[in-house]
Amino acid sequence: NERPAASGTARSAELAERAARVIPGGVNSPVRAYGSVGGTPRFLVSGRGAYVTDADGTEYVDLVASWGPALLGHAHPAVVDAVQEAAGRGLGFGASVPEEAELAEEIIARVPEVERLRLVSTGTEATMTAIRLARGATGRPLVVKFAGHYHGHSDGLLAEAGSGLATLAMPGSAGVTAETAGQTLVLPYNDPTALAAAFAEHGDRIAAVIAEAAAANMGVLPPEPGFTAAMIEIAHRHGALVILDEVLTGFRAGPSGYWGIEQARVPSGAAPDLFTFGKVVGGGLPLAALGGRTELMELLAPLGPVYQAGTLSGNPLAVTAGLTTLRHADVAAYRALGNAADAIIGEVTTAFEAAGVPFRVQRAGSLFSVLFGEFAEPPLDYAAVQRQEVERHRAFFHAMLEQGVNLPPSAFEAWFVTAAHDDAALERIAGALPAAARAAAAA
Ligand code: PMP
Repeated sequence: NERPAASGTARSAELAERAARVIPGGVNSPVRAYGSVGGTPRFLVSGRGAYVTDADGTEYVDLVASWGPALLGHAHPAVVDAVQEAAGRGLGFGASVPEEAELAEEIIARVPEVERLRLVSTGTEATMTAIRLARGATGRPLVVKFAGHYHGHSDGLLAEAGSGLATLAMPGSAGVTAETAGQTLVLPYNDPTALAAAFAEHGDRIAAVIAEAAAANMGVLPPEPGFTAAMIEIAHRHGALVILDEVLTGFRAGPSGYWGIEQARVPSGAAPDLFTFGKVVGGGLPLAALGGRTELMELLAPLGPVYQAGTLSGNPLAVTAGLTTLRHADVAAYRALGNAADAIIGEVTTAFEAAGVPFRVQRAGSLFSVLFGEFAEPPLDYAAVQRQEVERHRAFFHAMLEQGVNLPPSAFEAWFVTAAHDDAALERIAGALPAAARAAAAA
């Protein structure tokens, strides 16, 4: 369990400099730039199981897991073999391939509310299309989203979004017209009264409410008991649709996504109308999906009037990676994910209490995150989690990194375990926590 001696960050620093000369900020997705934690972003060159290795040859236990997709661990042999076999037959044809329906069947088997599924390439496309579909189905213009929820970077969904915008403390994005922004109503999460009030005022103009199944882009913040049920009831009473975004939680929080857990708390048996998936369903390659009832989904072209398309949609390599990942995401894999989450949460609690660091662990299935700071009340919304002490996270992040543990470089992201986080990986994390907790205490 000894990690190889760190050989510094010279090569990563060189690569970052080179990248910054040709790529804005040196990155193709903002959080990778270490903007909120500072220091040299590690360039990664390989990964296997629970571990990744950077360009300077330092190995880390990884708690980013490609921001979710690597459910089984990096470079799972079955997934790599299947993708290599598929690649040998061609990288994509722009025609249908047999595996697309197999992936749709696998997802439908896990979420029975999904009767038809359309494959796209990113979570952004999945939610953007779901919203277009909701508007097409209802003929209404407005969309309700919750502050701190992230649904990708389409224009209408960037207001008060979590993820990178939370990390960079950006309220929204330049380049979104006032007209577009005005069609999104942003409400506090976990507040059925605010939702009912918005519907009382605008109900006949609201096409859909979109929500993460459990918020996980402002740290993990699951719905309060009764909130999802109230959301579905209020939306349906006003003829609006509910889009449950499972891009992050889907087939990670549990075998049927977070809906599989939450469903038991919706006594009426009512359900969301549309679901979006991403990350795990692509097994590490670019693939996402949206699904729902047949009569809604068949409003999509070529059957219906709502247009959506993609050159690379249903790409055979991505479909193969996703399908193989889901087929290996069995009872044992979910047990391993849950055990890894339990073990890390236990060690965090011990180390933080010993060091006197104020903290809160937030959890949704095998997803969890750690908030730094005193919270008199459990945080329920974005305003509450924004009160966390990000300088403690910064000190903690670097102390963990120096000891060979790669955490998300943001205080607003979930920690991602994999089914490959075995005892050796968990021991490395446990070994690093006491010193990192002391660093957080001193920050
Ligand atoms: N929805 C949720 C809940 C997400 O977490 C994300 C990405 N983190 C997206 C949508 C967007 O997915 P993508 O980055 O693939 O566009």
